Amino acid sequence: MIARTLFDSDMELFRDTVRKFLAAEAAPLHEKWEAQKFVDRDFWLKAGEQGMLCPQMPEQYGGFGVDFRYNCIVDEEIGRSGLSGLTTFLMHSDIVCEYILHYGNERQKQHYLPKMVSGESIGALAMSEPGAGSDVKSIKTTAIDCGDHYLVNGSKTFITNGFCSDIVVVAVKTELNAGARGVSLLILESGMAGFDKGQKLNKAGGHACDTAELFFDDVKVPKENLLGEEGQGFYYLMSDLAQERLAVAVNGLAVAESVLEQTIDYVQQRKAFGKQVSSFQNTRFKIAEMSTEMSVARVYLDRCIELHLEGKLDGVEAAKLKLHITDLQCKAIDECVQLHGGYGYMWEYPVTRAWADSRAQRIYAGSNEIMKEIISREILAR
Ligand SMILES: Cc1cc2nc3c(=O)[nH]c(=O)nc-3n(C[C@H](O)[C@H](O)[C@H](O)COP(=O)(O)OP(=O)(O)OC[C@H]3O[C@@H](n4cnc5c(N)ncnc54)[C@H](O)[C@@H]3O)c2cc1C
Repeated sequence: MIARTLFDSDMELFRDTVRKFLAAEAAPLHEKWEAQKFVDRDFWLKAGEQGMLCPQMPEQYGGFGVDFRYNCIVDEEIGRSGLSGLTTFLMHSDIVCEYILHYGNERQKQHYLPKMVSGESIGALAMSEPGAGSDVKSIKTTAIDCGDHYLVNGSKTFITNGFCSDIVVVAVKTELNAGARGVSLLILESGMAGFDKGQKLNKAGGHACDTAELFFDDVKVPKENLLGEEGQGFYYLMSDLAQERLAVAVNGLAVAESVLEQTIDYVQQRKAFGKQVSSFQNTRFKIAEMSTEMSVARVYLDRCIELHLEGKLDGVEAAKLKLHITDLQCKAIDECVQLHGGYGYMWEYPVTRAWADSRAQRIYAGSNEIMKEIISREILAR
């Protein structure tokens, strides 16, 4: 394994704290969270106290003002721990708060960000609708200009943190027939009249991470809740998606590496035909292949994190990374299930959960087909 050079000793201390905190405070509760389909609010507050939420946030907004590597450490440790419900934090810390930080005015930043850092306020991002997922431009949720407020109507689906959310960055149409230029971002707050949350959706995996529908029926949203400029929402979304895709990859590779480690232990213990399963050439070759692919991916991913820290990770490279890592993750975990035999299909085995949890990685944050569109468009335009 090529030694990683990305993190200094302070960061490794932070990693150690996060790892111990997750093992002590989250692991015992994860099954309960899976059953109720959301992470307890108390735990958000505890995670906030540990500095695990939005660590990159500047100090004037309640954060530590550290760089994105601290977010990566949290994302990796969540991936490594198998506590997939906590990917709920990725959405909050790596995605939602960034929109407010990048495009919010000073009042919005002071109002929303400190509570996101402390865990008092849970954030969600609502783009997808029943009729529009990949094609964000075709959303139907409208925000009609009524002078001092917008009147919002429509619905969203598949929204991570939707059920528990206190604030939601919602993509709306402020101009109906203007395509991308008609999309704006509004901050909606839980409790606004006409803003309702649907049931927590019944997903194939990631059960502890809440995912819900949202409904807007004549919601009066003050103009001061507009994020950035009207008509710029689509461009804000496209610009910030690079960090979202990076975070998905950071978490995804950590999950895959951890599942491979567990599988190596398993095949060394399990016997068939009087031999360890690890003694079969097929097992050894599969493990060699997966380990090689993950080592290569690790170097590529760490380089992309470095590029991101330098402000140089562009949308195409982030798309390649998301495509490559999440495909690798799903393929490798499927092989690990196979090496576990029937036990690999039993819910009490972490490999089984990881298999179910990982599948969505190829769908959200832009499906992998959309990643190929983004990549090929750039190559063929040269
Ligand atoms: C667990 C989970 C959490 C999610 N969290 C959120 C969230 O927090 N916020 C949010 O806004 N959304 C969220 N989503 C929604 C997610 O972003 C969408 O599901 C995704 O963008 C795909 O959209 P869709 O489901 O409408 O599929 P569709 O867009 O209908 O796509 C169906 C299929 O067609 C393919 N396809 C579509 N267009 C093209 C094309 N041009 N070329 C080739 N193939 C194409 C897709 O890749 C896919 O395979 C989440 C989804 C899941 C599963």
